[in-house]
Parts: sequence; C-alpha cells; structure tokens
Amino acid sequence: MDRSQYTELTFLERVDFAEDLALFRMKAHDPVDFTPGQYATLGLIENGDDRPLLRPYSVGSSPGSTDLEFFIERVDDGALTPRLWNLVRGDEVWMRKKIVGRFVLDESQSHHVMAATVTGVAPYVSIVRAQREALEAGELDTRHRFLILHGGSRSWELGTYQDELSSLAQQVDWLDYVPTVSRPWEDPNWTGEVGRVEDVLRKHLDAAGFPPDDTAVYTCGHPKMIDKAQGIFERAGIEEEVIHEEKYFVERATS
Ligand SMILES: Cc1cc2nc3c(=O)[nH]c(=O)nc-3n(C[C@H](O)[C@H](O)[C@H](O)COP(=O)(O)OP(=O)(O)OC[C@H]3O[C@@H](n4cnc5c(N)ncnc54)[C@H](O)[C@@H]3O)c2cc1C
Repeated sequence: MDRSQYTELTFLERVDFAEDLALFRMKAHDPVDFTPGQYATLGLIENGDDRPLLRPYSVGSSPGSTDLEFFIERVDDGALTPRLWNLVRGDEVWMRKKIVGRFVLDESQSHHVMAATVTGVAPYVSIVRAQREALEAGELDTRHRFLILHGGSRSWELGTYQDELSSLAQQVDWLDYVPTVSRPWEDPNWTGEVGRVEDVLRKHLDAAGFPPDDTAVYTCGHPKMIDKAQGIFERAGIEEEVIHEEKYFVERATS
C-alpha cells in the first residue's frame, strides 16, 4: 500500500440522530482543501489488514479547516459502517489525500434547487456554509440563491442540519429550506411538509419561481429518489446539462 496517498484523521465524536444515523467529527493534522460538494474516501485498517477498507463520504464541513464533518447512515450488514460505529475518541481513520468529485456548485447558473434524502444533504451543507463564510468575509460579489429540499422518514433523521438550515434560511434572503417527512404518523409533533422529496419536488420547484434559463438542479442520496426526480426535472423542461446527481449506492436486486 502506498501510504503517501493517505492522511490520518483522528476520530473526535459521533453525534447520534437515530440508531443508524449520525454526524461524525474528525480532525486532520493540516487544513483540508476541496471544492464544497466533493467527497472524501475514508477507511479503517483493522486486524492486520494491509490496506484500509474504503468508502466515499461527502464532506459536510467547509474547506480549509482541520475539522471535518460527515453525515453517515449505518448499513447493518455493510462492510465499513458498522465498524465506524465502533470508533472511540482518538481512533485513527484513514482518508485519501485527494478529495474528489464533480458534484459541486454549477457556477454557470445562479439559482440552485437541491434535493436530498437524509445524509444526501451533506454536500449542500458544505456549499451553503462556504457561501455564508465567503459572504461574511466580504469575499463574494455574486450570491447564489438556493432552495434545499431535505427528506427523511421522521424529522429527527434530518439531524442538526434541519435546525442549522432552517435557522440560516430565516436570517438570509438567499436560502430556502424545506424539510419533509414521509412517515408523519410516527412523528406526531411534526407540522412541516409531508411526503417524500420526490412527492413534493415539483410543487416547490414551481413555487420557487426561479428563472428556468438560470437554474441548476441537484439530487443526492437514495437512487430511487434520484431516478424519480430525473423524470420530474425532464417533464419540467430542465435541460440535461444543468441536472446534477450523486447516487450514494446501487440498490440490491430483490429476489
Ligand atoms: C460519491 C459518494 C458519496 C457518498 N457519501 C455518503 C455520505 O455522505 N453518507 C453516507 O452515509 N453514505 C455515503 N455514501 C455511501 C457510502 O460510500 C457507502 O456505500 C455506505 O456507507 C455503505 O458502506 P458499507 O461498507 O457499510 O456497506 P457496503 O458493504 O458497501 O454495502 C452493502 C450494500 O448495502 C447497500 N447500501 C449501501 N448504502 C446504503 C444505504 N445508505 N441505504 C441502503 N442500502 C445501502 C448497497 O446495495 C450495498 O451494495 C456515498 C457514496 C458515494 C458513491
């Protein structure tokens, strides 16, 4: 194994949102640079393995920091995620030095409709945090306008991102955030939007009133939502070159 391709992160903490959903905080030795929206490749070496078991994870934090944040779902029979849940503070996590991916802000457009299932919000969080920081630092002339749709079965699955994005949306005029819950009967206090992301996407796309010739659309997370959203975007007349997607996995064939 060529160790020079990797950097070691220190696991700091896991913040649980549900039994199988959590925010992971890690610390790097040096500030980590990337374009918001990209993914890191994380891995663990255990039991004398000679190479880490690796998986890609979107980075939720903004670039240029030693603090890295990931929003991860545990797949109970998965190879890596159950091991991630066993990490204790101070453990070592491997990360490929190169943070990569093309799921980044489409700078050719200034309006952006972003749809996510649960953990798929991570790249949008990074993009929005980066814009907020750049605006606060006076480093940005043009501000992009965002509508983020974020779906989960129950509201707590959306984690602290729901509070962060809702509260930012109240403070600035360039962000709208719509959390939506598909199992409201299991979440009796929920008063927000109801349905899967793909069920409410067309309604919010139309309501946003974004100019069709200056809007990019994005989907991230569960492949089923992404496939359904693709059809909705096509029927809404959105050009293929401004439709961006990041599928987190391929669904297993059912027998
Ligand atoms: C570009 C990219 C970015 C990603 N970013 C994230 C992220 O930010 N957060 C995150 O949690 N995951 C993310 N993923 C998914 C992640 O890389 C792993 O696939 C996932 O964590 C499962 O890893 P595992 O080793 O535990 O399971 P594996 O052993 O790799 O998976 C076994 C099987 O489980 C199924 N599976 C995998 N993930 C899921 C899931 N979430 N729900 C249901 N079935 C699943 C697949 O069919 C897979 O074949 C991303 C994937 C890609 C391609």
